[in-house]
Amino acid sequence: MAPSRWADTEEDKAADVQRKREKDEKRRAKAERARQEVAEVQAQQKLEERPTKRQRLSAAPESTPQASLSAPSAPRKLLRHNAPGWYPSRHVNNFERLNHIEEGSYGWVSRAKETATGEVVALKKLKMDGSDASGFPVTGLREIQCLKACQHGHIVDLREIVVGNGLEEVFLVMEFLEHDLKTLQEEMQEPFLASETKTLMLQLTSAVDYLHDHWILHRDLKTSNILMNNRGEIKLADFGMARYFGDPSPKMTQLVVTLWYRAPELLLGAEDYGRAIDLWSVGCIFGELLTKQPLLQGKNEVDQLSKIFALCGIPSEETWPGFKRLPNARSLRLPRAEQNSGAVIRAKFPLLTTAGSSLLCDLLALNPAKRPAAKEVLAHPYFEENPRPKSTAMFPTFPSKAGQEKRRRYASPSAPKRGEAPKIGGAAGDFSGIFAGQEDEETGAGFQLKLI
Ligand code: ADP
Repeated sequence: MAPSRWADTEEDKAADVQRKREKDEKRRAKAERARQEVAEVQAQQKLEERPTKRQRLSAAPESTPQASLSAPSAPRKLLRHNAPGWYPSRHVNNFERLNHIEEGSYGWVSRAKETATGEVVALKKLKMDGSDASGFPVTGLREIQCLKACQHGHIVDLREIVVGNGLEEVFLVMEFLEHDLKTLQEEMQEPFLASETKTLMLQLTSAVDYLHDHWILHRDLKTSNILMNNRGEIKLADFGMARYFGDPSPKMTQLVVTLWYRAPELLLGAEDYGRAIDLWSVGCIFGELLTKQPLLQGKNEVDQLSKIFALCGIPSEETWPGFKRLPNARSLRLPRAEQNSGAVIRAKFPLLTTAGSSLLCDLLALNPAKRPAAKEVLAHPYFEENPRPKSTAMFPTFPSKAGQEKRRRYASPSAPKRGEAPKIGGAAGDFSGIFAGQEDEETGAGFQLKLI
């Protein structure tokens, strides 16, 4: 190596040699360390590969009985799991739109025909909520998730999901049913007969039972979400509010279920509700089938509670332990609880048998713990007594509004929108939505609810 042009003295030269020696020494030490590390890793791997005491790597001689057990000589079979394949959704232009049926809260429903097969179906185009920054609407996701998980004779069959041209065009392809119970009842001259009501109630409750068995709450049971075909069969639809729940129930929003069908615990702000909220709605539907009129038509949350208490009695600590601790109950001043035990309900439905009114009273129990489970409803003596449930084959047929004409709709509240649930009381809430126009309103029978 050429001497440094700065190394002009003997001393400098000696220092240079010394530095070079030290550098070489360091390089050698580093190479040795790396070699040792590699050797350690290899030793560790060997250790792991070594069979443990009880592990037999080579097949034992055929003659020993253990041999065939521990090391089969036949080629091993792979366990196969059938995973659903991934494939693109078909385009909506495989269907020809026949007529518009209804614009709901979360979608537009039309009657359509599949071009290839000629089969008539219902197409529901999901509304993409522009204000929701998360993109795909959660109501649509829940509807697809729950309907795909359900196979039941009284739950509408979701055939497939099809798409339009853009990402915002998603359609549910469902079996088509000619009626929904709300529209049908509006067109009927008389309510359903007792035998027909029983058949409808049994079908509805069997669907609810199936959902509850599968840990799904529907959370928006009402007559407009119950579809009916011309063979007397009903099928539950609109799973936009449905969700899986657990035991114990997770915290869930209390802003669910259309007001007229909403259980008192939801109105009082309970967040850990369960199956009983669907059974309250079943009770409201039962009352509606008997008279053709929605049972509890409140104008707002407070009025709804007033109407419920007027029909079912005032709750007390004895009849509904702990209800006063519900968030919205603290701010309500309730009249003293009187013994009601179904007297008002029985008076409102004079033609209902004792068994029938006892079932209705049970379903409309203020205390959710006292409401029967769907299975108990199915086994209720009301369905055993005469007149017996009518066979679906004997049901009358009705002209289908969904089939052709534009339908007449009477005003009724729709399912609650997602967002902040209104509070009935409390220090920080804005109650204007709840109490707007309250002074001019009709009061519930016999008393009016007041805020303290
Ligand atoms: P949304 O979730 O937007 O409220 P729904 O699923 O409740 O929409 O449907 C609204 C209306 O459309 C129903 O009340 C019913 O009249 C009609 N409808 C929905 N699904 C079907 C179907 N499969 N067959 C016939 N009509 C249907």
